[in-house]
Amino acid sequence: MIICYLGIGANLGDKRKNLRQAVELIAQIGGVNLLSISHFYETEPWGVENQPNYINAAVKIETDLQPLQLLDSLQAIEHKLGRVRKEHWGARTIDIDILSIDGITMDTERLKLPHPYMFQRDFVLIPLSEVSGEEYQLHGDKVTKVKGCLVDFNLKLIACVDNNFGLGLNDKLLFHIDEDLKRFRELTINHTVVMGRKTFESIGKPLDNRRNIVLSRRVDFIGGLEVANSLDDLYNLLLGRSITSIFVIGGGEVYRQLIPYASEIYLTVVDESKRADTYFPNLNNFEEFICDSIDQGSGFKFKHYRRKI
Ligand code: ADP
Ligand code: MG
Repeated sequence: MIICYLGIGANLGDKRKNLRQAVELIAQIGGVNLLSISHFYETEPWGVENQPNYINAAVKIETDLQPLQLLDSLQAIEHKLGRVRKEHWGARTIDIDILSIDGITMDTERLKLPHPYMFQRDFVLIPLSEVSGEEYQLHGDKVTKVKGCLVDFNLKLIACVDNNFGLGLNDKLLFHIDEDLKRFRELTINHTVVMGRKTFESIGKPLDNRRNIVLSRRVDFIGGLEVANSLDDLYNLLLGRSITSIFVIGGGEVYRQLIPYASEIYLTVVDESKRADTYFPNLNNFEEFICDSIDQGSGFKFKHYRRKI
């Protein structure tokens, strides 16, 4: 897997929605893992004036695709989101540029790496710096952080795993530790919990005194519950009623989908190695998060992680 940074921008239609959808589609490309996404930034047009303001963001992915395969997949997403290629630097519903791919330089008509203009554009460098952790020489352009992305909500992931990040087997959790369940309740009570459909079914009812949201691509309606069919839906549900903390409570697929947007992780690590068929993302390969506190229990640790950048 190779690390790669993308710059995305939009200045037509519902710009924020276009960006959210683009990121969601990028995460679904086979051979691509989304690692993190920046906040959204509003900027004035660059190159060609007299067009609406842009919203820009940067994304960090890892991929085993060849550079041109990746470009093909990204251009397919531009196409799907209704981009019509007209004038160079002209208005667009979505623009996805490959900023850099680790270890690769290229200078062909179809693909130039690193992207030839990236170091001249603060609207690229400011969001990029959020996901790469690097500092860049800026030019004093007007670039303003705006709301519009799930990262705005500082999502917290909470899970209980074994030594290998195992979560569950046959739709059941690996562990039910009283102290852990008590802490889960204390942390999440009066807040919002987001879960996948299978996790909801395994719990069997909404968690009391919490706002329950089920994220499911397939199911539209579960009696008495809020359902989000996409991350864009989830964003819209959270918007306007986001006074509480948002805890993502599983399962494996939902953790994987939401970790790029998360800012904290509460992980209970039980000192055992069990058979499992669902896993939390392996944080050893996930340098975005650093462990900033560990509390030792009997046979387990409460670990807290914070996004480094
Ligand atoms: P721009 O992004 O510069 O405003 P376009 O999105 O219209 O312009 O891209 C024009 C062409 O640039 C694309 O057809 C693509 O093949 C080529 N290109 C060259 N290098 C890159 C890169 N690093 N990322 C994306 N497209 C690139
Ligand atoms: Mg482009």
